[in-house]
Amino acid sequence: MINIGCHLSIASGYEKMGKDALSIGANTLAFFTRNPRGGKAKEIDPNDVEKFLKLARENNFAKLVAHAPYTLNPASKDEKTRNFALMAMTEDLERMEYTPGNYYNFHPGSHVGQGAEKGIELIAGLLNQVLKEDQTTTVLLETMAGKGSEVGATFEEIREIIDKVELKEKIGVCLDTCHVSDGGYDIIGDLDGVLDHFDEVIGLKYLKALHINDSKNPMGSHKDRHAKIGEGFLGLETIVEVVKNPRLKGLPMILETPQESLDGYRKEIETLREKGE
Ligand code: FE
Ligand code: FE
Ligand code: ZN
Repeated sequence: MINIGCHLSIASGYEKMGKDALSIGANTLAFFTRNPRGGKAKEIDPNDVEKFLKLARENNFAKLVAHAPYTLNPASKDEKTRNFALMAMTEDLERMEYTPGNYYNFHPGSHVGQGAEKGIELIAGLLNQVLKEDQTTTVLLETMAGKGSEVGATFEEIREIIDKVELKEKIGVCLDTCHVSDGGYDIIGDLDGVLDHFDEVIGLKYLKALHINDSKNPMGSHKDRHAKIGEGFLGLETIVEVVKNPRLKGLPMILETPQESLDGYRKEIETLREKGE
C-alpha cells in the first residue's frame, strides 16, 4: 500500500479535507497552513480537528505534510521579511500540535544575492529559533529547483543547513521530483544513483516525504514548473519508478500537479496505486 495524497484546501476545515482525501482514494494530504501569499491563519476549531483525527485514524492515514506559505523567506536580507518568516513558522508549529506527530514542509528560501553560505546560516538560524524540544512535528526542508537564488537545490546545501541545526531529530527532508530533476539530478536515467548520492550527502534517514510532480522542463533547467503526471519530461515511467522504489516505499507522497479539479488528482492516485503497488 503506497501512501499518497495531494494538496487540499483547509478553507472549510480539517474534517472536510479528510473527507475530500477519502473521496479521491488518498490516505494522506497536504495543505497550506495559511494563505500562500501570507496573511493571518484561520482560527482552529478543536471540534473539527477531533473529527478529522478520528477519520484519519479509522482510515489509516499516513503522516500529513503541511506546507508553509511559499512566500516565506527566512534567507532574506531584509530583516522584516525574516521576522515575518519567524513569526509565521512559530505560529504554524503551535497550530501543528493540534494534529500531533505530522510533517511541516517549507522552502528553505532565497539568499537574494547574499550568497548561499549566508542564506544557509540564516535558514539554520531561524530553525534554531523555532524548533522546540517538546514539539511533535518534524519540520521538512524541501529540495528546490534552483530558480533564482534559491537555497536547497543541491543535497550539499540541505546537508549544510542540517549540520547547523541543533535539534536534528526535529528536522527532515521532502524530496520534490520536479525540483530535483530541474535541479540537475538524473532521476529519469538513474534514480538509484540519485538516492545513493542523497544517502551519502544527507542520509536517507532524513528523507521523510515526497512531492510527486512531473516537470514542464528538462533536467537541470532550474525552472520549477510542475506538469501533470506523464505529461512532462519525467514521464509516467519515471514517476512509477519513484513510487515503487523500495527505499521510498511507505513515505507520504503528495501530488502537486496542476489540476482543474479534485477528479484530476483522483485519476493520478488511481494510476499510481495501480502501477506503483
Ligand atoms: Fe513546495
Ligand atoms: Fe513541492
Ligand atoms: Zn515546485
